[in-house]
Amino acid sequence: MREPNFFRRLIRKLRPPSSQKGKDHHDEEMLRRLLQAVERTREVEYSCEDVYRVLDEYAERLQRGEDAARLMPLVRHHLEMCPDCREEFEALLRVLEGMAA
Ligand SMILES: [Zn+2]
Repeated sequence: MREPNFFRRLIRKLRPPSSQKGKDHHDEEMLRRLLQAVERTREVEYSCEDVYRVLDEYAERLQRGEDAARLMPLVRHHLEMCPDCREEFEALLRVLEGMAA
């Protein structure tokens, strides 16, 4: 994985220019910011639970002819990666199509 490199780059970016004095404090601060950054990175990807929560909205938007993939790109991204959710999604679409017919 590219994690080690990623973290090194992140640490270099987050390190304040003058990190010589109060080093312990800076390390602590840096770690805190690093964890926050990781937390934010995680939010970029939906979990199955997240997708499941908005899957019906996504399917309904598609059904209405809206550009669901553009409006909810994280859902589309997850569906591309995750066969389980895609199966769930396709079942949902079939139900909606049945109701529309
Ligand atoms: Zn999933």
